[in-house]
Amino acid sequence: MTQDRTSELAANLEAVRRRIDAACRSAGRSPADVTLIVVTKTWPALDVRRLASLGVHDVGENRGQEASVKAADTDDLDLRWHFVGQLQTNKAASVARYVDVVHSVDRLSLVQALDKGAAKAHRRLGCLVEVDLTDGGAGRGGVTPAEVTALADQIAAAPHLDLLGVMGVAPLAREHQRDASARAFGRLAELSDQVRSGHPEAYLISAGMSDDLEEAVSAGATHLRVGSAILGSRASLG
Ligand SMILES: *Cc1c(COP(=O)(O)O)cnc(C)c1O
Repeated sequence: MTQDRTSELAANLEAVRRRIDAACRSAGRSPADVTLIVVTKTWPALDVRRLASLGVHDVGENRGQEASVKAADTDDLDLRWHFVGQLQTNKAASVARYVDVVHSVDRLSLVQALDKGAAKAHRRLGCLVEVDLTDGGAGRGGVTPAEVTALADQIAAAPHLDLLGVMGVAPLAREHQRDASARAFGRLAELSDQVRSGHPEAYLISAGMSDDLEEAVSAGATHLRVGSAILGSRASLG
């Protein structure tokens, strides 16, 4: 049973790695410049353990409570935890204790709370500016493109935070999802250029999920956040 699940994860992981390699080849990029983050939300810590045994180093979660339990359950493993979900200000201090990178920084109050939490935990925290790529639509989070530079400056100025780059989720399209994703990720790459003109070290671009990782690689993503293509479809939640 356990072995079956490990084999299933291994096969899925291999298929995703092949997709990333192919996308890199088309884009003339090196696969070494693209980091796969496996988003393990809703799946048990045992799956995180299995993934680690298969060579996964970067894992992502979108809920603080779930993430903290899983991180504690697997703290014997050498993992980097990425927080990719909407984060309430009052949960920031807890997240700052065990997460390595927060992808979803989208307001000054959160910057302040994460900085305070990181200071208290005596550690530094990597942060990405989450950009709302929906053109003022029903975005799940993120600053508008016009607000990106100001928030990036605020993160960079926070004593215990490291500004690493930008993150975006492509808007859900009624059809031609891949075209919509390609457009959104192109916009994100422009905003990354803008951020890097003031902060050259903040070159990370977190974009692309199970269904549009090729478009993300083609647009220059450095970090992909892949869940269901590796772990299977989630029973509930988004
Ligand atoms: C769940 C989630 C992912 C992974 O999505 P899949 O479609 O399962 O690959 C990526 N990014 C964020 C922000 C998520 O919440």
